[in-house]
Amino acid sequence: MRLLRELGIVNEPHIRLSPSEPVARDLLERVHEPHYVDAVMKASQGDYTDEVCGLGTEDNPSFPDMHEAAARMTGATVDAALAVWGGQSMHAVNLSGGMHHAMPGAASGFCIYNDAAVAIKMVQELGAQRVMYIDLDAHHGDGVETMFWDDPSVLTFSIHQSGATLFPGTGFPTDMGGPGALGTAVNIALPPRTDSAGWLRALHAVLPDVVRAFQPDLIISQHGCDAHCLDALSDLRVNVDAQRQAAVLVHQLAHEAAQGRWVALGGGGYSVVDVVPLVWTHVVGIASHQEVPSDTPTPQRWQGYIDMLLDHDPPQFLGDRLGAATFTPWSAGFDPDSEVDRAIRATRNAVFPHLGIDATHEL
Ligand SMILES: [Zn+2]
Ligand SMILES: [Zn+2]
Repeated sequence: MRLLRELGIVNEPHIRLSPSEPVARDLLERVHEPHYVDAVMKASQGDYTDEVCGLGTEDNPSFPDMHEAAARMTGATVDAALAVWGGQSMHAVNLSGGMHHAMPGAASGFCIYNDAAVAIKMVQELGAQRVMYIDLDAHHGDGVETMFWDDPSVLTFSIHQSGATLFPGTGFPTDMGGPGALGTAVNIALPPRTDSAGWLRALHAVLPDVVRAFQPDLIISQHGCDAHCLDALSDLRVNVDAQRQAAVLVHQLAHEAAQGRWVALGGGGYSVVDVVPLVWTHVVGIASHQEVPSDTPTPQRWQGYIDMLLDHDPPQFLGDRLGAATFTPWSAGFDPDSEVDRAIRATRNAVFPHLGIDATHEL
């Protein structure tokens, strides 16, 4: 937020910054089990361990006001979705959201309440017929997928490092949704060390076709930026510019297929100086129609702040040293020796027939 302010992006009159309140308990219970909400409330009072609920664990330690903090993050995503659905805002962003691993009855992977899932339930209740969730985080968006597994009106899309080599161990191409909802879970499971070119090739080979086929009323996207090579929590090598381009694509698709209705969320991201501020600045820049190129210098005052706060050289530009990302489109041809291409083909072949998309030329 400091970087966005220093760049002048959030100071523009057409931007509305809204405070958020913790979401009411009955809204949390649209997706979470009451006994789990009780457990989170207990964990908010101090030391508390409940292995079944995933609380008091290494990934999800209990802390004072845990419930309130997680409910507030969820409240911001719900407010964002309501503002977009109600037409007060074309796009909205909650960088604190994107807690995609939270399960109906358990915390998981640093995620307590599943803000995206609660927001999807809210817009469904207000009349949304088809909602699409797009997850760009390095890890599979397992919580959101689980919550809408049997719901054909919610399509969850996740591009991630394969569960064969990374937490949470799920999200394979043949995982496509429950019996009445086949094709409304879409998973691209990439090999470790997939680079920007491979990641963008995979994204473009699947996402646009899926969005056009599904025709969502609203898109909620999760911009976890832990697929970067500097991020210790994945083995992907996706640079800042590729993640910027992914946000550009989601934005374009929202205008093309969802009447512009787009809610963007944060998510994972553990390289907190070199990657997270840059990627999320791009997300907010794009969502506020003030896109900034990757070679824009970072403001001196922001650099000075990083210098003062941390013993770490601040990034000089809004991209990284890896520069701009380019990729070869899927239409240029399939390479059977490429592990990335085999992953892309597995997803297209599995899911496209269920969505009425013609992929026969690849069989
Ligand atoms: Zn992640
Ligand atoms: Zn727009």
